[in-house]
Amino acid sequence: SLSERLDSAFKQLKGEGRISEINIASTVKEIRRALVDADVNYKIAKDFTDRVREKALGEKVITAISPGQLMVKIVKDELAELMGGTESELDIKANPSVILIAGLQGSGKTTFSGKLANFLKTKKGKKPLLVAADIYRPAAIDQLKVLGEQIGVEVYSEPENKDAVKIAQNAIAHAKQNGNTVVIIDTAGRLAVDEVMMKEVANVKAAVKPNEILFVVDSMTGQDAVNTAKAFNDRLDFSGVVLTKLDGDTRGGAALTIKYTVEKPIKFVSMGEKLDTLDVFYPERMAQRILGMGDITTLVERAQAQFNEEQAKKLEKKIRQNQFDFDDFREQLNQIKKMGNLKDLMGMIPGIGKAIKDIDISDDAFKGIEAIIGSMTPAERSNPDLIDGSRRRRIAKGAGKDIQDVNQFMKQFEQMRQMMKQMNKFGAGGRGLKAMG
Ligand code: GDP
Ligand code: MG
Repeated sequence: SLSERLDSAFKQLKGEGRISEINIASTVKEIRRALVDADVNYKIAKDFTDRVREKALGEKVITAISPGQLMVKIVKDELAELMGGTESELDIKANPSVILIAGLQGSGKTTFSGKLANFLKTKKGKKPLLVAADIYRPAAIDQLKVLGEQIGVEVYSEPENKDAVKIAQNAIAHAKQNGNTVVIIDTAGRLAVDEVMMKEVANVKAAVKPNEILFVVDSMTGQDAVNTAKAFNDRLDFSGVVLTKLDGDTRGGAALTIKYTVEKPIKFVSMGEKLDTLDVFYPERMAQRILGMGDITTLVERAQAQFNEEQAKKLEKKIRQNQFDFDDFREQLNQIKKMGNLKDLMGMIPGIGKAIKDIDISDDAFKGIEAIIGSMTPAERSNPDLIDGSRRRRIAKGAGKDIQDVNQFMKQFEQMRQMMKQMNKFGAGGRGLKAMG
């Protein structure tokens, strides 16, 4: 992967006592190769590494105490700059604000529309209206309706109407009447750039004058993503880019090249099929991720979104009184699961991403534990001390597990409780939990 390649490019500078211009030149060359192999356009990669070399020489990497670290920092800053420098806000001041979603079929427009509605509702206090303006696939309306239902957002559709412009206009009138503060128009896409599709989206744009036009692109399509972005931008002059499927095995090149090519900011990255796996795009964090430096900030934000102050206080009290039980444990598991895919989460911890990339960590990791807790009675869950040998046998049977599995889990749970109690005695546990919420 790009991260690994960059890491090995830095290797010779890391831990190396004496550094010469030759070392730097070869490191820079390695970086350039890694970028090109990750689908970054050659010219961009060359410009990039030229800047890095200049900075490295200017900032005296050669005489630095830890040249490797300084070099990593220079590359990180330049990567962030290449991707736009700072994050770019969505323009949603107007009431209602209209956001037009465009992109090829399968790029993730409909999924993103749902995620964006959810984001604006839960994080920005908006009242979104989702509009199904994909008039070619009847199933598209249902897909959006299912998403809308999951997040409690109204979906506007006119199954009989084959005029995307009319649908969009009617939807906005409906939004004004209904007090919706944001209108998200999900349009039809084609498998490749084609004139009919472009014309249709351009017509919708002309008719509704959106505050934002977001171009959605599958980051797994590499260099094609950049060409598609260019075609859409020439025609639509969009206001921002959404990179989807960053959870997959992407080479990362799209993120690095698009901003440079179309000179439009990346505004969101989408990482998974769950509706709460949408993140505002922060170039700096993305750069850290590419360099395998982890992304603790995003991790903490995801955690904060799930844990609130009140819950944390309640939990703290239970731990203090040694009353932490299986109900609490299960609730914690659920909170963690809501934060997203386990492997993605762990990948955000510096140093861990590389270590776990070949390990299969699925969200099923919790299934065994959940089955065991699930086959306990409510009384057992709230009073773990109740669970004796015969109860354990019954629980194992109910969960489809061996008695050893239950014994082991009970032992781990007990150890965890002891540890929590210890930590709490010194005040660290409470503070730790508070930091999370
Ligand atoms: P549209 O044709 O542009 O509306 O694309 P859809 O929203 O229907 O998405 C196409 C497929 O990609 C669906 O199977 C989605 O579940 C999937 N998909 C969308 N976004 C993501 C993402 O961020 N990660 C992954 N892994 N899959 C995604
Ligand atoms: Mg769609």
